[in-house]
Amino acid sequence: MLGLMQSQPLLISSLIEFAERHHGDAEIVSRRVEGDIHRYTYRDLSRRSKQLANVLDGMGLQFSDRVASLAWNGYRHMEMYFGVSGSGRVLHTINPRLHPDQIAWIVNHAEDQVLCFDTSFLPLVQAVHARCPSVKKWVALCDADKLPADSGIPGLVSYEAWIGGASSEYAWPVFDENSASSMCYTSGTTGNPKAALYSHRSTTLHAYAAALPDVMNLSARDSVLPVVPMFHVNAWGIPYSAPLTGCKLVFPGPALDGKSVYELIEAEGVTFAAGVPTVWQMLLNHVKAGGLKFSTLNRTVIGGSACPPAMIHAFQDEFGVSVLHAWGMTEMSPLGTLCTLKNKHLALPRDGQMKILQKQGRAIYGVDMKIVDSAGNELPWDGKSYGDLLVKGPWIVADYYRSEGGSPLVPDAQGRGWFPTGDVATIDADGFMQITDRSKDVIKSGGEWISSIDIENIAMAHPAIAMAACIGMPHPKWDERPIIAVALKPGAEVSREELLAFYEGKTAKWQVPDDVVFVDAIPIGATGKMLKAKLREQLKDYRLPGL
Ligand code: AMP
Repeated sequence: MLGLMQSQPLLISSLIEFAERHHGDAEIVSRRVEGDIHRYTYRDLSRRSKQLANVLDGMGLQFSDRVASLAWNGYRHMEMYFGVSGSGRVLHTINPRLHPDQIAWIVNHAEDQVLCFDTSFLPLVQAVHARCPSVKKWVALCDADKLPADSGIPGLVSYEAWIGGASSEYAWPVFDENSASSMCYTSGTTGNPKAALYSHRSTTLHAYAAALPDVMNLSARDSVLPVVPMFHVNAWGIPYSAPLTGCKLVFPGPALDGKSVYELIEAEGVTFAAGVPTVWQMLLNHVKAGGLKFSTLNRTVIGGSACPPAMIHAFQDEFGVSVLHAWGMTEMSPLGTLCTLKNKHLALPRDGQMKILQKQGRAIYGVDMKIVDSAGNELPWDGKSYGDLLVKGPWIVADYYRSEGGSPLVPDAQGRGWFPTGDVATIDADGFMQITDRSKDVIKSGGEWISSIDIENIAMAHPAIAMAACIGMPHPKWDERPIIAVALKPGAEVSREELLAFYEGKTAKWQVPDDVVFVDAIPIGATGKMLKAKLREQLKDYRLPGL
């Protein structure tokens, strides 16, 4: 017997329809590429998304055709999120920090037909446009009078001129909720990039989940700043969860330095912000250097790479801002786990709570996870056994777009497919997952594994260290031994011996790095993560002491 409830597909257009009707006057504030601040409301967003949808219909773009963006976080990008996906096309958000060759490759692979870009990316578009034959229309996300002259890009039009004449009346089409809505290529370090192709259903379910109290706890009373980019896994789903809750939205545009982000937080009464550790480090440095305080910010979600405990302490103890440590990946839309305490932990002393809050956290309903050994046997949730982390759920990829080769999923005894994350983790009896490492970054020393994240976290707690990366170096007896590469804070000093002494009592003796390498900067990739492959390349002539 079937239930007798209404059947309505879960479509992205329903999010903006809801926001227009119930939170029409809630604000969306954007710092623009031009540097000024732009303000409008969800009602305006809805109206202009419909204009964009009408323009795409008028061009004769078909259902599922790809429309690409090369853009910072801002209101026009947000209009693309709804106008493109809501009208049945697929939004392809391109990471502008990728190499131009990679960008040309993914535009061709996705067969993008329209590409809209912020004018700060004009040189990039000039470098790749001749290599992107599928693109019929190039659009600069700017006012008509700001259209770059003599750009050399055929038919370039400004976004405002492009959508300006279109009607803001539009009936969002209704279609299968499993239809593709957006896509994001992973910044894989080896091989060609691979695209996660999200659906309306996966995106809407993820938007619900992201707003839950033990996830981002978003509400109509919040002012939310996604520093995490809309070009990388849909800014962790915030552009979809925001209209679902009616929160105020604050977009930072291209200005991600500590000063600009701090000023925006204070000026717009931001209560909740999301970002990767490298960006938050810039914010903390600015706030500490100026002896500043946060007057409204009360929580921040940090993820994308391991959040050093020293950062959690600084936000919480010095500024009264709670840190929610989050873990996920492009293939997971991206949220998998968030770290919040359970009721029974409330009675624990502060230190005990902090130990838990450093972990990557508990699975969100909708994400199932397990850890397995090299033979695929499930490992116990004892907080000690570590193994490959596998996940499954309705917002996790089943396959990549136009993938070559077989399914990425690993079947279990019941034939259900699990996605191998490439991460190594422990899970404790309460279900808190802790990432030990990326499987390729784990240091294998004398048959034991050393977590590079643990070794980095200790160095990051030293006041002189701005950033630290631990990598394994070949060793004739132990296979590999860890070394720690560090970049110092401006003006700070620490000697090799002092830093190695700092490890005493903080980790087992055999896990202490064999050496310290001082570098000007740790290489950072397109999504703010450390590029250990590049660091290994830079240190290819390095030899461990005594070898
Ligand atoms: P991406 O798909 O580019 O966002 O990268 C996903 C990968 O980033 C994950 O598989 C992890 O290796 C890493 N990652 C994300 N969040 C965290 C976190 N909180 N702690 C440690 N690693 C993380």
